[in-house]
Amino acid sequence: MERIEIGTRESTELIDITGKVKEIVKIKSGGVESGICVIFTKHTTSGIIINENEAGLKRDILAFLNELIPKGRGYLHDRIDNNAHSHLRSVLLGSSVTIPIEKGELALGTWQSIFFAECDGPRRREIYVKVIEG
Ligand code: ZN
Repeated sequence: MERIEIGTRESTELIDITGKVKEIVKIKSGGVESGICVIFTKHTTSGIIINENEAGLKRDILAFLNELIPKGRGYLHDRIDNNAHSHLRSVLLGSSVTIPIEKGELALGTWQSIFFAECDGPRRREIYVKVIEG
């Protein structure tokens, strides 16, 4: 298993980690020809998603999350550390994605990129990448 460490800069932000994951699959996984790759965030206030890396769409996604789950809506968890909205957004996004590997490469579609979704930044974050042959 490999790790990706990133430092986020905004409270909410989408960071494209496709290149880093591809590098792990190619170089560090021992040249797995066929298998699956699991990308997993270790945190309860972040997510991993697949979508198109287009500047307008990235802003749309963040605005959508903000609209759907606004900060400070009287959530119970806010009594503890004031970031319930971050946890709820994480629930919505999910904490991992699984991608097939074919011919030694991630079988992503033309417009698919892998994003780490920060929901409570800025912070140091850790992502696990596990490649399984099969
Ligand atoms: Zn919390």
